[in-house]
Amino acid sequence: MVLLSVQDLTIHYKVASGWVRAVENVSIDVDSKETLGLVGESGSGKTTLAYAITQLLPKNAYVKGGKIIYQGKDLLKLSMKDDGTLDIFNEEIRKIRWKDISMIFQAALNAFNPVYKVGDQIIEAIMAHKDIEYEDARKEVERLYEFVGIPKDRIDNYPHEYSGGMKQRAMIAMALALSPRLVLADEPTTALDVITQDRILLEIQNLQKETGISMILITHDVSVVAEVSNKVAVMYAGKIVEKGSTVEVFKHYAHPYTEGLMASFPTIVGEKRRLASIPGSPPDLVNPPKGCRFHPRCPYAKDICMEQEPPLIEISPGHFTACHFARELYGGK
Ligand code: ATP
Ligand code: SF4
Repeated sequence: MVLLSVQDLTIHYKVASGWVRAVENVSIDVDSKETLGLVGESGSGKTTLAYAITQLLPKNAYVKGGKIIYQGKDLLKLSMKDDGTLDIFNEEIRKIRWKDISMIFQAALNAFNPVYKVGDQIIEAIMAHKDIEYEDARKEVERLYEFVGIPKDRIDNYPHEYSGGMKQRAMIAMALALSPRLVLADEPTTALDVITQDRILLEIQNLQKETGISMILITHDVSVVAEVSNKVAVMYAGKIVEKGSTVEVFKHYAHPYTEGLMASFPTIVGEKRRLASIPGSPPDLVNPPKGCRFHPRCPYAKDICMEQEPPLIEISPGHFTACHFARELYGGK
């Protein structure tokens, strides 16, 4: 059953030099109890998409089109003002945020207010949404701490007394505090050392199995997606360039950008190999390249790529890709 359906969403940021086309015509679906991995380099629009779903876009972000349907309701209809900006304080949206849809932020290490005890900040979030006494809310936090693996006596510590991994776990506890249906995790492990990263990823997997929540896991690291997600959407320069089941997309990718991402990370499929990075850098989204936005970096680019934007086509059941030469790449493997 589809829990969240983002349809044809376009979001631009207003800046002095014009409009940053951060998200354009993006469509993704998340079913109940599934994890969608949203992957792409820095600047591809992943965080903008996440902030649109949680309705926390900054003031200079304008919705230019599309829908965000959560359990049959278009969230944009509730919050969007006439000029395309969002009313982040909309009462209905505030009820949905954290309680239905919560987020583990990229900057979790700085997400807690340094002058309040970490546990109290989570207790306060629970009390703001539920009719519950302090002692009961505290018991819930104790249970959550146990679940994410933080000793209970740490509830009364301040943020600076937590290690990076512990803060990240506390952020996960915060995101789960109101038993949401959908959690968006934006680079939840990037700031941590490799061992802590692995542990947290394992915890996220266990948590998904135990609670049956749906997740959107945002990362630039395809090996994280391979480990945790059953579905994947690859973003480049504000657009989805490939999407489908993780197994299908990673085994039979049909977009040169996905191929490049796969070559930049180890241990996804097959034998060990030398890691290659994708030459060049993502385009300026105020003036993105004409035609296929990936053409200046694509090893397969031909004349048509510079003129015509490739449509997103279904190359095999449920597997979509946007490249003029997708069939050749798909068939060549
Ligand atoms: P990262 O992992 O670095 O956050 P991302 O894939 O999440 O990257 P976004 O942060 O969504 O990408 O950024 C998409 C584009 O929008 C980038 O070109 C970025 O510079 C631009 N952008 C993001 N926030 C703003 C803002 N408030 N004002 C103007 N441009 C912005
Ligand atoms: Fe490369 Fe052309 Fe495909 Fe774009 S459309 S990914 S430039 S081959």
